[in-house]
Amino acid sequence: MKLLMCLECNDIFNLDLSEKSCSCGRSKGKYINQQLAEYTGEFALPIGFSNPSLINAIKDQPNEGLGKEFTAFVVPKKCETFFKRF
Ligand SMILES: [Zn+2]
Repeated sequence: MKLLMCLECNDIFNLDLSEKSCSCGRSKGKYINQQLAEYTGEFALPIGFSNPSLINAIKDQPNEGLGKEFTAFVVPKKCETFFKRF
């Protein structure tokens, strides 16, 4: 799952086929198709969730105590499937 974080307003949001924007309007992004996504903005940081890891964490949601961790990662500056449009 591809998400965008705005380092100016701290919004984190998922992407859709229609362009979405953060609260301050400086970071924008969208899916181009099921695999490719693009984003713009000097404060935009691309983030990914490992889908299998998130699904497992949802299945194993604890009733109490510590939360169930899952894998999230910052996408590399050069990425062929999630890239910055200038
Ligand atoms: Zn913002």
